[in-house]
Amino acid sequence: MTLRIRPDLDSLPTYVPGKNFPGALKLASNEVVEPPLPAVTEAIAAAATGINRYPDNGAVALTEALATALGVTTDQIQAGCGSVMLCQNLITITSGPGDEVLFGWRSFETYPLATRVAGATPVQVPLTGDAVYDLEAMAAAITDRTRLIFICNPNNPTGTVVEAADLRRFLERVPDDLIVALDEAYIEYTRPDQAHAYDALELRREFPNVVVLRTFSKAYGLAGLRVGYAVADPQVITALGKVHVPFSVNSLAQVAAIAALGAREQLLARTDLVAAERGRVTDALRQAGYRVADSQANFVWLELGEEAAPFAAAATAAGLVVRPFAGEGVRVTVTVPTENDVFLDFARNWIR
Ligand SMILES: *Cc1c(COP(=O)(O)O)cnc(C)c1O
Repeated sequence: MTLRIRPDLDSLPTYVPGKNFPGALKLASNEVVEPPLPAVTEAIAAAATGINRYPDNGAVALTEALATALGVTTDQIQAGCGSVMLCQNLITITSGPGDEVLFGWRSFETYPLATRVAGATPVQVPLTGDAVYDLEAMAAAITDRTRLIFICNPNNPTGTVVEAADLRRFLERVPDDLIVALDEAYIEYTRPDQAHAYDALELRREFPNVVVLRTFSKAYGLAGLRVGYAVADPQVITALGKVHVPFSVNSLAQVAAIAALGAREQLLARTDLVAAERGRVTDALRQAGYRVADSQANFVWLELGEEAAPFAAAATAAGLVVRPFAGEGVRVTVTVPTENDVFLDFARNWIR
């Protein structure tokens, strides 16, 4: 018997968890290698004695801490169970069947999936030849059905960033009632030159239709706890609050995020090493003959085309877990020098 489940879900891929095995060097999920700071684990331990109670559904203390840190008001912030959940909720509040959600491609896999779960239509605009979001082409792809635009900057999985002037020109062209989500999951890793430097919070003040998405999963090292946030116009925050899954930001995540925010200088200082290593890894890979995009994130993108899958399979056999996108490329997390060297040794010796 076939149960009555939405038939359009049949065409969606089933989630395949990232490969991992004991002893593997995991470079597939853009995590940091360092365990949480003592201040964070202590906050979690203290909060653990209270988990018989529901979390604060409004994440009031975290929202206040974020508002202070970012220089915005609390009615401009919504915490979420990872910024992935906020991506999904932005789709929910803007789009349904017949509506279009626009983004670059290849980009974050959540965008097309969550769009289709909502019954809306993903419109995927190819990246430029340099694997950068093609904002010119995206502006041209806006229709009267477009309800939401994602710009992933730096882009996952290519690591590339758009030029600040292009971003501004794009925002000037977008109708001012159309929401543009600027997904900045990796922003702490960027070391932009002048052409690529912009302040998303500043842009958001100027363009109230901009939503900034950030996360504690990457540079803040809390991937396992699931907490991210949106900074947006209060209209958007109110709507996000309506579709918020009750209590989905758990109490340990809330206190850990506050503690991580309190230690942010120390956490962000770690991104300097990653930024330096990203340059070293990119240079070494290019010297070895690989085509590698200019990354501003904590990963590199090897444009391997049809060799992506065999490369990743050989890496797995060698104890290295990387993230392949068959027919396109492989994304490899940049971490500490010892781990990066293991990957570089593999890549240099890989025989096509
Ligand atoms: C990792 C990532 C996120 C955030 O993920 P959460 O863990 O859900 O906060 C958001 N966007 C992109 C592009 C990412 O790579």
